Amino acid sequence: MSSRWFAPALLLAALLGWMTATLAGADSWLGGMTAALQDAYLAALKMIIAPLIFFSLISGVLQLRSSGSMGRLGGVAIAYYLMTSALAIILGLCIVFFVHPWTAYPPLSDIPPVDVALINTQDGDFASLLKNLLLSLLQNPFKALAELNILGILFNALLLGLAAALTLPMDSPWPALIADLTKLIYKVAGWIITLLPVGLFAIAFQLTGKVDVGTLIALGHFAGVVVGATLFHGLVVLPAIAWWLGGIRPWQFLRRASQPMFTALITSSSAATLPLTLSCAQERFSVSPAKAAFVLPLGATVNMDGTALFEGIAVVFLAYMFGVPLDGFTLVVVFLVAMLASAGAPGIPSGSMAGLQTVLLAVGIPLEAIGLILLIERPLDTVRTAINVEGDLVGSIIAERWA
Ligand code: ASP
Repeated sequence: MSSRWFAPALLLAALLGWMTATLAGADSWLGGMTAALQDAYLAALKMIIAPLIFFSLISGVLQLRSSGSMGRLGGVAIAYYLMTSALAIILGLCIVFFVHPWTAYPPLSDIPPVDVALINTQDGDFASLLKNLLLSLLQNPFKALAELNILGILFNALLLGLAAALTLPMDSPWPALIADLTKLIYKVAGWIITLLPVGLFAIAFQLTGKVDVGTLIALGHFAGVVVGATLFHGLVVLPAIAWWLGGIRPWQFLRRASQPMFTALITSSSAATLPLTLSCAQERFSVSPAKAAFVLPLGATVNMDGTALFEGIAVVFLAYMFGVPLDGFTLVVVFLVAMLASAGAPGIPSGSMAGLQTVLLAVGIPLEAIGLILLIERPLDTVRTAINVEGDLVGSIIAERWA
């Protein structure tokens, strides 16, 4: 099932939701069935989070080891990925703290809050916050995985990945095994995401009549802020970096990069766009085939500026909508988890939805909140994927010049 079913699913849900509410009242059979479908779909998304981030992070660290063996090229690429992802999240968080037209709206009262907070931000002073953080991080990996303790999973995966990178010999079969396991989990995640129109139908049906005009307007504002911030990153920040570190004038860069960016806009998939990104880097930016072949596939997997920026803004928006308090400390958590979640997101349409839940869980926002984002996820994915691909291209130009 492809993304072209998003709009029909939404329309059908709105129509049926309205008809059911008018003809059969609140307790209809269809209402019960769609509630079950909604819960099942959200559970399926939740089911994949722990293995997805655990294995993709371990295999990411192991990939970094092999890139380390490529010396300067790996170092330049990784420094660039870290720098631009961090810039993207910081940009998103800064913009959303000045431009937040939805703050006047109260939390949705008819979506029950779920107690999933890993860090209880209302729980006193800095010392107890620090203690909670450390206790979340330092949990045995099985418990962290079973209880979906996101910070514990991230910390254990990084630690195990680092230990594996330092101790396993280069010819060990383990890295390949972990990479294969990660591919299998990506495959399952892909299946769940393929069924998104079905989940979307159920969520939209359930929301019909419950989401008021104010919420819809807030969603529109949110979409506007995300698109504005993403375009700023894509049309100003990345071209400026390409100019500064790659020596290519912004308008020239955008003109030459337009074909893969447009393809990414249409496909919403960095992975599907990769062949075009590779040929564009070589033919239009004179990146050597060997460097392009190393930097771009890695970038399509771990470097997602648009996704990172989107996740930061989405968390702040949903925190407002669901009445979850954010403070400086939780923002640092958002920053760190969004960095890792964007790196772990598969480069497929809506690939970051599982990762977004990671960030929501880490700051205690109810998972149901993602239903709201799913309503406008499709158009937002197009823009952020184009920027993801643009970021990869800039990375290849910089690698060519500096590595
Ligand atoms: N669709 C994005 C990509 O392929 C991933 C996401 O943010 O959902 O780059």
